[in-house]
Amino acid sequence: KQRVLTGIKPTGRIHLGNYVGAIKPALKLAESEEFQASYFIADYHGMTKVQDAEEMRNLTRGIAAAWLALGLDPEKVTFYRQSDVPEIFELTWILSCVTPKGLMNRAHAYKAMTDGNKGAGQEVDHGVNMGVYTYPVLMASDILLFQADKVPVGKDQLQHIEIARDIAGYFNKQYGGTFKLPEHFIQEQSAVVPGLDGRKMSKSYNNTIPLFEEPAKLKKLINKIKTDSSLPTDPKDHDQSVIFALYREFASQEEVSVMKDRFRDGISWGEAKAELFHAINGKMTGPRERYMELMGSPEKMEAILARGAQRARETTAPFLTEIKKKIGIL
Ligand code: ATP
Repeated sequence: KQRVLTGIKPTGRIHLGNYVGAIKPALKLAESEEFQASYFIADYHGMTKVQDAEEMRNLTRGIAAAWLALGLDPEKVTFYRQSDVPEIFELTWILSCVTPKGLMNRAHAYKAMTDGNKGAGQEVDHGVNMGVYTYPVLMASDILLFQADKVPVGKDQLQHIEIARDIAGYFNKQYGGTFKLPEHFIQEQSAVVPGLDGRKMSKSYNNTIPLFEEPAKLKKLINKIKTDSSLPTDPKDHDQSVIFALYREFASQEEVSVMKDRFRDGISWGEAKAELFHAINGKMTGPRERYMELMGSPEKMEAILARGAQRARETTAPFLTEIKKKIGIL
């Protein structure tokens, strides 16, 4: 079986971008008999931003509840919290030692912060902690330790997968073939879901539409999505529309083809947004209820995550031993 792996940081509530870019494709892969899936909550990754204990606990629960509410089956998928698998962090150090510093200087998340600082006339590394800087090494460790073949992520994460491949290559060259080179698995049609301000929808930009938002607020947020005032008149133009792109993720095939016609006939943005609201709300009513229920019973989730970590370690511990032998530590 091919191995797939993906993680989400507990840095905010799950939003439409997370769902479309990562969770939905990941759950689809997990259903297939061809794949063995490992999905995790990247809490130590989240710590680069979230540094309040209560907030960390709540957000972590929120991500766990979201995956489960959306249909993750913990019997099929190895579902764990990153911090419960210590081998990941031991490998992170090992990988750090074969990773050229220059590779980190070019990483997007770090560059975005330093470019922002430069633009604002601040010191280049203002507000950048070492976690942010070495983030891609931890991510490489997440992926390589599980020998993942495929990593379903949104387009924004493409570079990090490339970096994981590079790091695997450096290690393999030095110590002999050890790590599999992972491939990204990207939903081409959905690309990067834009947020309310037009930038990438991101928990850190505060521009998100939370997936489990209650209906009245959801409707308001959808109405805030920026739309081009010129109506699409060309039938092909539905492809240019964010509203349409989101709609197709939540509606049935028939509904999508009806919507294509309505776009061709010159649907108003108000109507298109109302339809989008109905599609999302309709599809999320059940998951939203399950999510609320799970948030009310954290013990149940703790048990699931503990079992998941145990299963994860059944593969990570022996593999780490193998790696340590290769580097001459054991
Ligand atoms: P942060 O703002 O803290 O970086 P985020 O909202 O960007 O968080 P992550 O936890 O970094 O989300 O990402 C989880 C998954 O969701 C990743 O696979 C990522 O590619 C995907 N993802 C995040 N935002 C989007 C988006 N706007 N469109 C498509 N996919 C996305």
